[in-house]
Amino acid sequence: MARLAIATHNAHKVGEIWAILAKEVPGLDRESVASAGDLGAPSPVEDGTSFAENALIKASALAASSGLPAIADDSGISVDVMGGAPGIFSALWSGKHGADQDNLNLLLAQMADIPDEHRGAAFVCAAVLVMPDGREVVCEGRMPGRLLREPRGDHGFGYDPIFAGEGQTLSNAELDADTKNALSHRGAAFRALAPHVAELLG
Ligand code: IMP
Repeated sequence: MARLAIATHNAHKVGEIWAILAKEVPGLDRESVASAGDLGAPSPVEDGTSFAENALIKASALAASSGLPAIADDSGISVDVMGGAPGIFSALWSGKHGADQDNLNLLLAQMADIPDEHRGAAFVCAAVLVMPDGREVVCEGRMPGRLLREPRGDHGFGYDPIFAGEGQTLSNAELDADTKNALSHRGAAFRALAPHVAELLG
């Protein structure tokens, strides 16, 4: 029986989020979590102006429709020289939501003339928990690093092939899932959220 709802339709994200939380929340097996897709919940319009606002929109809608505690994240990549863009527009940067390859190609093209010393960027994630009674917890995580010049690796998703974390020679898409979770913005945000999930589910 599901005890916790995860507000995403992205199967890859459900796996990543559950793997992170399962290490920190006692008794949270795979059957305890249900995605918005599993629950047949529609996706609300994400019209917030920050990662945290958009995550709260998604989790609040799912907590209300499912009656379960709901968690959500909103995340993206922020490039220093672009003033933090793509930011909350990361998933639809090329104009079509979720077109990962087009988004990545556009960002690489926009950054083509920028030298290595100015290619700083960070993945950012806001992870939130919303209880059916309206209580909210918000935690944020960052993974600082730099944009590469061409895609490398085939793990992960989104901008992973063109991003390397601080001190890393491998791109995020060359890391295995456990290593990425240990270093990533999403890992940091959900590890910070996990004690609150444990306490409120307990
Ligand atoms: P969200 O599903 O609204 O949070 O959209 C996040 C978007 O940001 C994704 O579509 C990816 O393009 C990008 N993104 C967020 N986290 C990651 C990551 O861990 N790796 C690669 N791309 C990411």
